[in-house]
Amino acid sequence: MAEELKTDDKKQDEKNGVVCPMCGGGLQASDSSVSCKNRKLVKQGSSYIDVGDCDFFIPFKSKVFKRQLNGADVRKLLKGDQVTDAEGNKMTLDLTAENGFYTRIEFTKAKIRDFN
Ligand SMILES: [Zn+2]
Repeated sequence: MAEELKTDDKKQDEKNGVVCPMCGGGLQASDSSVSCKNRKLVKQGSSYIDVGDCDFFIPFKSKVFKRQLNGADVRKLLKGDQVTDAEGNKMTLDLTAENGFYTRIEFTKAKIRDFN
């Protein structure tokens, strides 16, 4: 279940800069992601389509990032900071969402050695 932030908390969140970077709306957290309150998913057949005004979201889990994000990580990303996993891969916010996600992962280079 999504957890609605109380109206009273909204001012505090805006002060902390914890608002949607796309539309300035409030954010909400579920067990699996942080998303914009203006994002509205409706089920169509076996998949969900987005019918809201904004589709910003950050999932906590990623197949390629080696650890699960928490609330503090998401706040860091929203501030423009990067978060890293155990392998040194760097995740940053990417508002172009070219890959369908609002995060970009920069992978550490594979270890290269001379081949004899
Ligand atoms: Zn938004």
